[in-house]
Amino acid sequence: MVRILLVGFLIFTAGCATVPRSTVVVPVETTLEGLCSKYALDCSWDGVAQTVSMDYGGQRIQALVGSSLVMVGKNKLSLSAPIKRHRGAVVVPPDFEKLVFGPADQKTAAGGGSFLGRRLGKVVVDAGHGGKDPGAIGFGRLKEKDVNLDIASRVARNLKEAGVDVIQTRSDDDFIALAERTAAASRPGVDLFISIHSNATKSRRASGIEVYYVGPLNLEDKCEVQRLQNERKLCGLLNMRKDSSDLKGVVTDMLYTYKVADAPRLAEAVARGLSQAVGQVSRGSKAARYYVLRNTLVPAVLVEVGFISNPKEAAQLKEGAYRQKIADAITKSLMRYVYAQGI
Ligand SMILES: [Zn+2]
Repeated sequence: MVRILLVGFLIFTAGCATVPRSTVVVPVETTLEGLCSKYALDCSWDGVAQTVSMDYGGQRIQALVGSSLVMVGKNKLSLSAPIKRHRGAVVVPPDFEKLVFGPADQKTAAGGGSFLGRRLGKVVVDAGHGGKDPGAIGFGRLKEKDVNLDIASRVARNLKEAGVDVIQTRSDDDFIALAERTAAASRPGVDLFISIHSNATKSRRASGIEVYYVGPLNLEDKCEVQRLQNERKLCGLLNMRKDSSDLKGVVTDMLYTYKVADAPRLAEAVARGLSQAVGQVSRGSKAARYYVLRNTLVPAVLVEVGFISNPKEAAQLKEGAYRQKIADAITKSLMRYVYAQGI
C-alpha cells in the first residue's frame, strides 16, 4: 500500500530546485501543491525541466508548466488552460482535479494539511520564563515573566479573534521547560512559533525593540536531542514510514529551508511594525541561537518587547494599555506578513 506523505512536491531530485513558495494567497485547491496534499500524493517537482510528476491509481502522472497537456500513464489529457506558475506556486485550471483524479475523494492529508498550504494554521505563542524562573528583574522589581505572560496572552487573544488557532505554552505563572515549549510547535498544523520576552541590561539607558530568528545551524545543532525528538514527532504526524530515514531527511531539510527563509523576514516585519506602533527604536532583527529558535521546526521568532531595565520603558511596560499596543502591533505585523508572503 502506498503510504501517505505530506512532502508535497517540494521533494526534488539532485540538481533540481524546490518550488519557490507563493507570495500571494492562492486558494489551496487551485494549486497543485494543494491537490497533492488533498490526495496525499508524493508529488515531485523538477525545477530544471519544469515538470511535476506523481503516482496515482497505479499510473504515472506528468505535467509540464506552460502546457495544457497532462500525461496519465500513456494517455494524454487536455486541460482547459495551461498549467501556470503564479508567484512561485504551480496553479492548475479548475478541470485538472476532475480530469486527472476523477471524483474527489474524502481523503485528507495527515496533520490537517495547512503546513504546506496557503493559509495560516496554528500559531504557538510562548510567554518566556515563568514560575520559578522569573527571567530578568527590571526597574522597580518588574519581573520579565509577568510582562511576557500578559503580552503573550494579549497576542493570543488577538489572534483568536482574527480566527487563528493558538497554542499558548503557558497561560499562567508556570515553569515550562524549554523542550516542552519547542515540542508544542511540532503539533499538527502548527505554522509559526512566536516567543515573547523582555530585555534587560546593566545599563539603564538601553532601550528599544529586538526580534530574533535562528542563525545557521551546524551539524551538532541539527542533531540536538530535542530537535530530533521534535522531528520524530512531526514525521510521525505526517504518517511517514518509520523506516524511511531518507524521506525524513528530505522533510527536515525542507522544513529547515522553509524556516531559515521565512524567519528573518518575519522577524524584520515584526521589529519594524512594533517599533513604529509603540514609538520605540528598532534595534533590528538579529540571528541568534536561542534554544527555542534552534529546536523548533517551523519558522520561529523571539520578540524582545522592550527593556525593563530602562526606567522609562519599565514604567510603560507596567501599563495595560501599552502592553495592548505591543500585542496589537505584533499581531498586525504577523498577520500582514503571513498574508502578504503566503507563509
Ligand atoms: Zn527572556
